[in-house]
Amino acid sequence: MKILHDTVNLDQFFNTVANSQNPVLLLDYDGTLAPFTTERDKAFPYPGVTDLLKSIQSDTKTRLVIISGRAIEGLLPLLNLTPAPEIWGSHGLERRLPDGTFQSTPLQKKQKEGIQALKDWITKQNLQKYSESKPGGVAFHWRGTDKGTSGMIKALVHNTWDNNIDRYGLAVNEFDGGIEVRLAGISKADAVNDIVAHTQTDDAIAFLGDDMTDEDGFQALKSRGVSVLVRPEFRNTHADIWLIPPAELLDFLMRWRDNSL
Ligand SMILES: [Mg+2]
Repeated sequence: MKILHDTVNLDQFFNTVANSQNPVLLLDYDGTLAPFTTERDKAFPYPGVTDLLKSIQSDTKTRLVIISGRAIEGLLPLLNLTPAPEIWGSHGLERRLPDGTFQSTPLQKKQKEGIQALKDWITKQNLQKYSESKPGGVAFHWRGTDKGTSGMIKALVHNTWDNNIDRYGLAVNEFDGGIEVRLAGISKADAVNDIVAHTQTDDAIAFLGDDMTDEDGFQALKSRGVSVLVRPEFRNTHADIWLIPPAELLDFLMRWRDNSL
């Protein structure tokens, strides 16, 4: 574990967690709680993570929230928590509350047209086997393919979809293991901002994530909470802390659990 900013004091932070009425723990899923795998429907959490999340859910005063790029529907069976915690899916486009209430930001007409055009294009280009369709766009995954294939997908997507923000309200974002065409202007920062706005100012908040899309959330949390980059290798980040999964992740979750009992 490495503290990246002098202003962050982890002991002090966990004291705040202990003193909070409802501390808030925000967690990304893929790459953070679960290691990457080429079979995305089998991306289960690291051993020990599920038990700790269950304990945090049932034994502590924590508001546990998952914020993922995945669609919520695909995430529920992997997360395998009953009851499911609050989940923000599709980078904040959809939200499911613990009582099962489901909310989703409606798509504009041009965005619907754009997603249909994107799906037609995928069929024409024969890219179905790399694509994951979501409510707010399509992700192309190239983990496990050769360099030629990933380069080909990346170039095709950029060349065709880079300039569609005005026409369709869609933007291209690269992530660890692929590239995604999705609604412009919606990001994990929306989820974080909403959660921060509904949290008492003396309640501790932390957000753990691994990917470029989590940086939006890290920035949104600046000066309000602690953001944690969870990643085997370091990279430039807005996060306050870097930790290496799974051992340091388990330590952090355990410490959170013990302080929020
Ligand atoms: Mg991730």
